[in-house]
Amino acid sequence: MPKTVMVASNNAHKLQELREIFAMAGLTDVDVVCPGDLGLACAPDETGTTYLENALIKARAFREAAARRGLSELWVLADDSGLEVDALGGRPGVQSSCYYRDAPGGDGCAALLREMADVPDVQRTARFRCALVLIGPQGQAHIFEGICEGRIARERRGAHGFGFDPVFLLDDGRTMAQLSAAEKHRVSHRGIAGRRAAAFLLHQEGR
Ligand code: IMP
Repeated sequence: MPKTVMVASNNAHKLQELREIFAMAGLTDVDVVCPGDLGLACAPDETGTTYLENALIKARAFREAAARRGLSELWVLADDSGLEVDALGGRPGVQSSCYYRDAPGGDGCAALLREMADVPDVQRTARFRCALVLIGPQGQAHIFEGICEGRIARERRGAHGFGFDPVFLLDDGRTMAQLSAAEKHRVSHRGIAGRRAAAFLLHQEGR
């Protein structure tokens, strides 16, 4: 099993979630670190048109930054994810982080609720998608994906999670932000992809 996995992200929420998902999947002997823990800084442009392309861009950029510091034994894990809303033709999709950040007051949930104000309940279907790319010390890339289906709520609810969680409704009537972290990981796009990555890592030999 690898000793250290660096999450190629500056997003503290993703790092925390991936740590918890790996621990829940029994991957407890692996150190999940962030670039800052290793003194690395990197902010690659996410110019891809798919989640997978963007995850590959991040994984490769952070891996090169690590290699320049002589950290070539690391496994690097990149997450690219987003929210696809059917009534908006799949937007914000790969642009989810920009949509959220550029919304008035940095409030992407409010912006989405406004855009969806006149959309009837049956047309409020949406999904979160996550692409994880894991690159090993030999440079081989492994891909894991997860999807979580839901609907866009009419108002925000819940205080857990991050991003669009308060307006993403699950089948049981709760929003993603009303779930505990463990409950979210059991159903979320990142939880599904992360469990697949954890199962793969559990079966890797060596460091
Ligand atoms: P990126 O993958 O860092 O480019 O950004 C993904 C964006 O999608 C985040 O900034 C959030 O706005 C949204 N997103 C991705 N995963 C989640 C999630 O689990 N909950 C809520 N929003 C998410």
